[in-house]
Amino acid sequence: MNKEEISLFIERNLTNFSVNSTGWDDLIRKLLFEFAIAGWNMEHRVFGKEKFGGLRCYTYSEDEELNNKLKAIKDKYSELSVKTCEICGSEGKMRTVGSWQTTLCLNHFLEQQPVIEIDEKQNVRRDHKTLLNIKNIVKADLEYDLQRMWIHTKSFGNPEETFYFSWQEPNYYLLLKTIPLSIFPEDRRNEISTLFQSLQDCEICGYKAVHQKTCLRCHHEQWNESGYFVEDYGEKSHYIKECQMDIFIDEEDYEKYFTYDQSFEKSTDHQILFSSDDLREYEKLLF
Ligand SMILES: [Zn+2]
Ligand SMILES: [Zn+2]
Repeated sequence: MNKEEISLFIERNLTNFSVNSTGWDDLIRKLLFEFAIAGWNMEHRVFGKEKFGGLRCYTYSEDEELNNKLKAIKDKYSELSVKTCEICGSEGKMRTVGSWQTTLCLNHFLEQQPVIEIDEKQNVRRDHKTLLNIKNIVKADLEYDLQRMWIHTKSFGNPEETFYFSWQEPNYYLLLKTIPLSIFPEDRRNEISTLFQSLQDCEICGYKAVHQKTCLRCHHEQWNESGYFVEDYGEKSHYIKECQMDIFIDEEDYEKYFTYDQSFEKSTDHQILFSSDDLREYEKLLF
C-alpha cells in the first residue's frame, strides 16, 4: 500500500470530522490509517463527529467483512476518545461543562469552568473579566432555595444589565454574603442572614457550611439515625470516613475546582477519620 496515498487520504478526510478542537486529530488520523489498511476504498470519504463527549464515525461499508473490521476500528477510537482531551490531546476524561458532555484534561476542564472573584474595590469578576461593581447593583433576585441569583445593575451612562450566578460556581456564597442585604427583596433578607448565622461545622469536609442538614461546601448530607444511613453505613464514623475518602480521591475534580472558594470558614478541630489502609481498601473497591 502506497504510504503517500494513505497520507493524502488521511489529510483529505480529517476535515470531514466535525470536532470542537484539534485534540483528537491524532486519533482521527490513526482511525483513517486503519481504515486504509483494512481495505477501505480511499476514493470514498469518511465522516465523523463529536457527540456526547465521544468520537463517532458514521461511515459504513456494504461489504460485511470489511464493515466488521471498520466497526472494530471505530469502537477502538471511540473508547480512546473519551480518555483524550478534545482540546490538547493529553489524558482526559468525560466532564459536564454547563449542560454539555465533553472530554477534557484537568487543565482545560478548570479553564472552562466559571469562577467568581470579588476584588478589594468590590468588582465582581468571572474568569478574570469584570462583570459589575457591587455599588452599582440596583436589585437582586433569588431562587426560592437561594441557589441562584440574578443581579441587576445600573451605572451612569450604561443601560441596565442583568447577570446570573449559581451555587455551582466557586465563591457564589461569598457573593451572596457580600451584597448588602438591603439590595434583596424585603421578604428574603431574613432568610439570607439566618443562613449565614446558623451555619454548622461539617464533620466531613471541615468547613462551617452546614445548612439544613446539608453541607453547602461539599454537598454531603449530614449523618442522621434514619433507616437509610444506618442500613448502608452502620455507624456515623463509617459514613464520615467514606465521604472524606470521596473528597480526597476527588474523582470529579470538584475539590480542585473549588480550591479558591472563600465562601466558608474552616472549622478549627476537623478530624480526618480514614487511614492509608482504609484508603487503599476503598480504592480497590472503586477502581
Ligand atoms: Zn487539555
Ligand atoms: Zn462539607
